[in-house]
Amino acid sequence: MLRYKKVTIKIGSNVLTRPDGSLDFTRMSALVDQVAELKKRGVEVVMVSSGAGAAGRSQVHPEDKLDAVSQRQLFSAVGQAHLLHRYCMLFSDHHILCGQVLTTKESLGKRDHYLNQRNCMRVMLDNDVIPIVNENDAISVTELMFTDNDELSGLIATMMDHEALIILSNIDGIYNGNPKDEGSSVIREVLPGKRDLSEYIQTSKSSFGRGGMQTKTNIASKVADEGLEVIIANGKRDNILLDLMDSEKDTLCTRFVASPEPTSSVKRWIAHSEGFAKGEIHVNANCTQTLIEGDSAVSILPVGVERIEGDFEKDDIVLIFGADGTQLGVGKSQYSSKEAQRVIGQKGIKPLVHYDYLYLFNNE
Ligand code: GLU
Repeated sequence: MLRYKKVTIKIGSNVLTRPDGSLDFTRMSALVDQVAELKKRGVEVVMVSSGAGAAGRSQVHPEDKLDAVSQRQLFSAVGQAHLLHRYCMLFSDHHILCGQVLTTKESLGKRDHYLNQRNCMRVMLDNDVIPIVNENDAISVTELMFTDNDELSGLIATMMDHEALIILSNIDGIYNGNPKDEGSSVIREVLPGKRDLSEYIQTSKSSFGRGGMQTKTNIASKVADEGLEVIIANGKRDNILLDLMDSEKDTLCTRFVASPEPTSSVKRWIAHSEGFAKGEIHVNANCTQTLIEGDSAVSILPVGVERIEGDFEKDDIVLIFGADGTQLGVGKSQYSSKEAQRVIGQKGIKPLVHYDYLYLFNNE
């Protein structure tokens, strides 16, 4: 039996590259064979693939020393073409089409862009095309980039309403100590409410990708709290995807068990939008209290607002702060900052942040 019918699979640079940084075609081919097999068995798969930067680095050798941004742009522009070319060839052996979706964090901060990207992937899937997503590293502005593709994959999996996110790295999962020590072992299950693994995490980063175990854990916890199962496993192991998907097998990995109370898809988008916030809403003590208690559906009304910071438009993402300055959550504003300034303190008018578009840290 297959564990999931809809799954996002993130493949890290370290899985796809050899120690010298060149693309590992054998590994890519093995993974594509497995994705093709899953597709034939009726599973909806979206892939998030890193490896563009690494692939480009091994192809192009600039004569002059380049600054970090120019290097990233050059390597990813070249590498992304190589990466997708290889995927297309490998999938065509199975008579399957794949397509490229390049995205930026900035563009996903607007709900209409977000829905537009979701529509793009939906139409691809409906037409039997496997979307292969990556960040558009060639044109992304450094300060506005995703931390890494783990963060991007969390957003994609929730965007597509998938049951699970599988993050393939070059390590068997999250260890309860240094993976190199004999005494450490892989943490097999991370349950809701018990997701703080900071005491176990090594701070070292992966050698070719941008991510590390800490971001993987943060993203995995967040996504699992939103109702998706998240698996961190070793993409270098043969047959890993088919093994993980087989409900009869207990394959070595770390499994973040999904929270039994999934959040709505709009709230998931808000939850992943914190980094796009354009402004701040500071609420008064009364409103803070109501939000902290948070047991009913509460919106943020102008009467509960103390001050507004930043310059934002209607529908932009804003951070919500309580009376003592603690951040309580994230929301989508129904007013521009100018309009909001005008209506602060007024009663009987539409909420600044409607409940459906408010994601509170304490009760989600
Ligand atoms: N987008 C980058 C690439 O394809 C990878 C980012 C990451 O390492 O997570 O090279």
